[in-house]
Amino acid sequence: MIYLDYQATTPLAPEVRPAMEPWLDKFANPHSPNRWGREAAAAIAVARDLVAMAMPAGGQVLFTSGATEAINWALKGLAEQATGERRRIVTVATEHAAVLDSCEWLEGRGLEVVRLPVRADGIVDLDAVRAAVDERTLVVAVMLVNNEIGVIQPVAEVAAIAHAAGALMLCDAVQGFGRMDVPDGPDLVTACAHKIHGPKMIGALWIRDGIRLEPLIHGGGQEQGLRSGTLSPMLVAGFGTAAKLALERRTEDAAHVERLWTAAREALGPAWSVNGSTEARYRGNLNIRREGLDAARLISDLRDIAFSLGSACASGSGRPSHVLRALGLSDGQARASVRLGFGRYTSEEELVAACRRINAAAEAQQGLAA
Ligand code: PLP
Repeated sequence: MIYLDYQATTPLAPEVRPAMEPWLDKFANPHSPNRWGREAAAAIAVARDLVAMAMPAGGQVLFTSGATEAINWALKGLAEQATGERRRIVTVATEHAAVLDSCEWLEGRGLEVVRLPVRADGIVDLDAVRAAVDERTLVVAVMLVNNEIGVIQPVAEVAAIAHAAGALMLCDAVQGFGRMDVPDGPDLVTACAHKIHGPKMIGALWIRDGIRLEPLIHGGGQEQGLRSGTLSPMLVAGFGTAAKLALERRTEDAAHVERLWTAAREALGPAWSVNGSTEARYRGNLNIRREGLDAARLISDLRDIAFSLGSACASGSGRPSHVLRALGLSDGQARASVRLGFGRYTSEEELVAACRRINAAAEAQQGLAA
């Protein structure tokens, strides 16, 4: 199996496993005041600092079950305390479902939602942001790196526009977290461990100091009364170690991904075009299209290569990707697109071999085989 689905999730780093394992046996509740509990709480404090190092300065990290929860919490927690005129959420048509569906839910409860289009390269137009954001805006939600096409949004500029209008900014940083700086500017940032070689079901919401947020989950008052529920020292320790590694290996990982991108494009050949900007992009995401291709058939023809049609969530639905449609692609072009995602543990040889086979299978499908 050649694994090329790094945007869906990433393999556990070998260094993360030993950081997690002791906490299977050390079972104490990190919220208990006894010695064992305090030991677990100390491990959580260390991991919290490590995750915070990959976040902007001047805020705090609160652990959640994942980025989906963190995004739901940020949007609903802000909406809950919306007062007066500020009842508008401005977001972008290509955001992750966790943002778009939370917005839709809030729309059903009386908030106004503005979904901005993107240009053909997948980037939001800052003039459109300026036009939509005013004194009625509560929050502007724009992601850092798109999960389907890898393009990088101008987060710092969007945050400045939001602030100039007295609004807040939420940045879903899941796909860029640890790999690049989260730009200064957002007031709330979401991330999770499993996209950076950590475990699943653990994420974080970073909140700038001074920002108040209503809790989404009520109970025992953990996480300073803001997010109840017993934390898992094992998952939190895994997240902390994964974040530390991502920072330590950032330059090396980025250079590796750059080499992989070039090798993959060469191996695929000229019949494929890249969806979204190739410049403002995280290069571990190669979303490509070949006119006339049946991408779903290609994926089922190549069962020992794990790649995808777009987001793992969109793949199951049979609907053409909302992100590719937002770029202006037709349904046919969206259905002719696949996403190859690679990174730290992908070797150039396996990637090149997979790309050659993908290209050959596409040619065979289109009756072009030699
Ligand atoms: N946001 C983006 C951009 C993602 O890629 C994902 C993962 O699929 C999420 C949010 C949701 O993250 P989680 O799996 O931690 O709930």
